[in-house]
Amino acid sequence: MGDIRGFMRHGRELPTRRPVPVRLRDWREVYEPFSDGHLRTQASRCMDCGVPFCNDGCPLGNIIPDWNDLVHRDRWRDAIERLHATNNFPEFTGRLCPAPCEGACVLGINSDPVTIKQVEVSIIDKAWDEGWVQPELPAQRTGRTVAVVGSGPAGLAAAQQLTRAGHDVTVFERADRLGGLLRYGIPEFKMEKRHIERRLDQMSAEGTKFRTGVEVGVDIPASELQASFDTLVLAGGATQWRDLPIPGREFDGIHQAMEYLPWANKAQEGDLDPGDTPISAAGKRVVIIGGGDTGADCLGTAHRQGAASVHQFEIMPRPPTERAAANPWPTYPMIYRTSSAHEEGGDRVYSVNTENFLGDSSGAVRALRAHEVVFADGRFAQVEGSDFELECELVLLAMGFVGPQQEGLLAQLGTETDARSNVIRDDDYRTSVDGVWVCGDMGRGQSLIVWAIAEGRACAAAVDAALMGHTALPRPIGPSARPLN
Ligand SMILES: Cc1cc2nc3c(=O)[nH]c(=O)nc-3n(C[C@H](O)[C@H](O)[C@H](O)COP(=O)(O)OP(=O)(O)OC[C@H]3O[C@@H](n4cnc5c(N)ncnc54)[C@H](O)[C@@H]3O)c2cc1C
Ligand code: SF4
Repeated sequence: MGDIRGFMRHGRELPTRRPVPVRLRDWREVYEPFSDGHLRTQASRCMDCGVPFCNDGCPLGNIIPDWNDLVHRDRWRDAIERLHATNNFPEFTGRLCPAPCEGACVLGINSDPVTIKQVEVSIIDKAWDEGWVQPELPAQRTGRTVAVVGSGPAGLAAAQQLTRAGHDVTVFERADRLGGLLRYGIPEFKMEKRHIERRLDQMSAEGTKFRTGVEVGVDIPASELQASFDTLVLAGGATQWRDLPIPGREFDGIHQAMEYLPWANKAQEGDLDPGDTPISAAGKRVVIIGGGDTGADCLGTAHRQGAASVHQFEIMPRPPTERAAANPWPTYPMIYRTSSAHEEGGDRVYSVNTENFLGDSSGAVRALRAHEVVFADGRFAQVEGSDFELECELVLLAMGFVGPQQEGLLAQLGTETDARSNVIRDDDYRTSVDGVWVCGDMGRGQSLIVWAIAEGRACAAAVDAALMGHTALPRPIGPSARPLN
């Protein structure tokens, strides 16, 4: 621990965001650079706790006090080694994770927590800049073969771990590019896709093979993979979205978030002109239904496309600004947050329920009707006389996901699923079908990148042990691990 009074001397600081009018003119990430000096000061706030709750709060078990100390001492190369020991892709989590580690940080009991996420992303960005991130080739090849279906964070983490253990790994992805939701869900302004590319280059150099544009269960029968590979790892995500089956849902101009966001991402990849995306908010009055992070991604995208106005609806009440008594440290703080997209404009409307959509004579949505609700005894009740109508030309549904796609891959394999339609697995991530494992959102249900990476790593350890009779790969979590609460 470099500075035993660091937490008393320095307050929490984060990098500033680029001015809103400037960043709305492009799609680049929103944060200004944060100097090494500032970062080392922030790292010095870490108290190197005897019981580091940050470490428990992180599903990956990141050894946070160690790298805080190493950064404070200017030992960046050691810091990236310590970080990579528990996390294959800190450039993803350092940008995108809601940071349950910070919610669990002991300093957060009576002060602001350590800026763990900023330290994490700064370590990995410096490591890439300095050329310290190089392919890690396996010491020996095992001759065993593994097919991974899905190239999101879970599939990529599993593939990298298994390749490094010496297995011959091929990742199958139905999309035209790799990355899962990192690629086509999360917008460029939250994470520039160059971060995925250079990690994929590293993985290719290590020996992982990739096949894009192949939907297993459609383009190749699942049985073909079962016959040609020793093991199959399913990492297909939870792609079935929740719908809003209310009157008027059929009008044109009402889309799911994951029908809308991929087009903006494809435009940023250069596949089409940003002005030519089939679904665009340009010049439109937009309503986003769903107050979560996916809704915020739609909000930032709509503003960059030149929306006339944006409302974001949430049926739950506005969260408190401080932790509620029922949400104490070290659980994840369920508090009111302002993301970069919220800072850019739009109206957040809480405690509101949409009743129906109204259309014009051409069959396009022109408005929606809604009312306020109160939440009591586990139920929503309508507030009398609170009905209102809001004109809109584009409605985006961002209401979460209800599980993995059943037809095709899962139907062909005959994997058992639970009541939420997630693929059932045992304590070793094995499905009910011999030789088939599952990790990430496909088994856990809709979750977070950090959990997907942790599951990918743990599943790889289980597969390696099954193939070889032993494993040296780490197993950060079991399938039933849950956030601190
Ligand atoms: C818009 C949006 C924004 C998000 N933002 C964040 C965030 O900021 N921070 C965060 O922590 N989490 C975020 N999440 C959640 C996070 O992205 C997911 O929890 C995570 O990506 C799950 O990883 P995964 O590898 O299990 O699945 P996915 O990332 O969903 O990847 C699954 C992949 O499998 C492929 N696939 C499926 N079936 C087949 C098949 N039969 N054959 C071949 N390929 C197949 C799919 O095409 C997909 O590419 C967000 C989610 C969404 C929708
Ligand atoms: S809980 Fe916070 S202060 Fe304690 S070791 Fe972890 S980051 Fe440092």
